Amino acid sequence: MRDRSTDSPSFQGDHIVKPTGWVVDMRHYLDEETDDLPDRLPTPVLNLALFFGSIVAWVTDHLPHGDWHTNVPCRRSPGRRRCLGDVMAELDRTSGQIVWQCPVCGDHGLIHGWEHTLWNRHGGARAVPSEPPPATRH
Ligand SMILES: [Zn+2]
Repeated sequence: MRDRSTDSPSFQGDHIVKPTGWVVDMRHYLDEETDDLPDRLPTPVLNLALFFGSIVAWVTDHLPHGDWHTNVPCRRSPGRRRCLGDVMAELDRTSGQIVWQCPVCGDHGLIHGWEHTLWNRHGGARAVPSEPPPATRH
């Protein structure tokens, strides 16, 4: 018997769905020398980079408490109708990856390699935090 629906994501628990969708490393979008988006990036790739970058920016901007209802609209257009969902995202502190999901169409994925990119707004290499970064503790 299968009564587990994989198409109706739930945000009630501690975790969003298992990340089996998009898996992206933000560093792949950046020029190694400038740490910025390369000029030669094809538009579809650039659009993806900006989409994922917006998610990273939102999540890191809302740490440490998090607000997983981002201001990033879903980019999918299933059946040629634009999905009206907003992306939900949070930082998985165990893996350090950002997990995201669209509650409307179910598109989802995870983002890693974001820490030292221009999208990280939470300390790290770019910003100067007013408090020391949270230490790893149990
Ligand atoms: Zn969607």
